[in-house]
Amino acid sequence: MALVVQKFGGTSVGSLDRIKNVARRIAARREEGHSVVTIVSAMAGETDRLLGLARELSGRPKSREQDVLVSSGEQVSAALLCIALNEIGVPAVSMMGHQARIETNSVHTKARIARVDGERIDKALAEGHAVVVAGFQGVDAEGNITTLGRGGSDTSAVAIAAAIEADVCEIYTDVDGVYTADPNVCPSARKVEKISYEEMLELASLGAKVLQIRSVELAMKYAVKIHVRSSFTSEEGTMVTGEDESLESVVVAGVTSDRKTAKVTLREVPDQPGVVARIFEPLAEANISVDMIIQNVSRDGLTDLTFTVTRDDVARAREVTGELAVAIGATGGVTVDDDVVKVSIVGLGMRSHAGVAAKMFRLLADDGINIEAISTSEIKTSCLIRAKYEELAVRVLHDGFELGH
Ligand code: ADP
Ligand code: ASP
Ligand code: MG
Repeated sequence: MALVVQKFGGTSVGSLDRIKNVARRIAARREEGHSVVTIVSAMAGETDRLLGLARELSGRPKSREQDVLVSSGEQVSAALLCIALNEIGVPAVSMMGHQARIETNSVHTKARIARVDGERIDKALAEGHAVVVAGFQGVDAEGNITTLGRGGSDTSAVAIAAAIEADVCEIYTDVDGVYTADPNVCPSARKVEKISYEEMLELASLGAKVLQIRSVELAMKYAVKIHVRSSFTSEEGTMVTGEDESLESVVVAGVTSDRKTAKVTLREVPDQPGVVARIFEPLAEANISVDMIIQNVSRDGLTDLTFTVTRDDVARAREVTGELAVAIGATGGVTVDDDVVKVSIVGLGMRSHAGVAAKMFRLLADDGINIEAISTSEIKTSCLIRAKYEELAVRVLHDGFELGH
């Protein structure tokens, strides 16, 4: 008998029929003798719809109220799933974030989980209930509702799996596993049987939204086994686990792209010690993470500085750098360009193989795709390119590295 945590994403609970399907899957698992805790997302499109309502009223809704609003989506699906379970004879109890004791910090709209007290879930399981927890939401020390950032139900699931020491955390979604590239973009993408936490972490942070980054971080930290699989079939999906020998041989495990990036350029920056620090310190204070950075060779004591930020931060980045440009005497001013996309290749084998980045640059060049910025780490290389080349670049890299069938 196992303790299984299952998470169903928005598409998987997108209609009443689909909710009934999820209920049947839970019932079948319980009949095999397993205890099941299910985490649900809002019904497909609901979070966007709610955010749209807030935006109609205000350009800048208070983040606390936005969290109260969007967390309602998960409340609805948790209740509906319990009603569907009861209807087929399964005793079920729903819990909101505060009831499942998912304690977070107070950074509304992107809160981080500090602690999960699994006691209440354990008690409900011991009483023979199927437990259904609303994903994406938590509660801060003052009792305010918080949410965990887009895709946050994945993180709710892993955090709960860690807290109650579940045997596995199954992430049910609209694809049947983790692929070598987004299967909706790259037709030759191949499902992988296993992938390491490290690779999955890079893929997630570089745009593969199949798992939220934070969920992979938590899984790695607490050694939670993640099984990504389809909510529409019973086929095995992809296991996300620790490294082993069979994984090490892969040079490139996957290709991904990230549209949520924008390029900020400060022109004619005085090239003096301390100037770069003066630019990035206020960005850090404003909680804006900077990704790629390029400083050009200086001419006549002046240089251009380019960096990328996520699109969500671009308005604030423009504000902060605009003021800075004046303060430091960057006479060329600030330009922002969000018509860009970051494509990346990820693989553990890049640690021990030379020439992988060079091959990436060659493949892009052969298709006439210009590279505007580059960043690398031990197991990834990313290139910033024009947005219109996104899908072409993913396919060219995927097939160039022979990741398909
Ligand atoms: P859910 O609503 O179930 O959380 P998401 O839309 O958040 O589902 O994540 C699933 C989607 O992730 C897929 O439909 C797919 O388009 C996308 N995706 C991006 N990269 C990958 C990848 N490498 N493997 C599988 N899916 C991917
Ligand atoms: N409903 C939230 C979102 O759309 C959380 C999730 O689905 O994981 O981002
Ligand atoms: Mg998701």
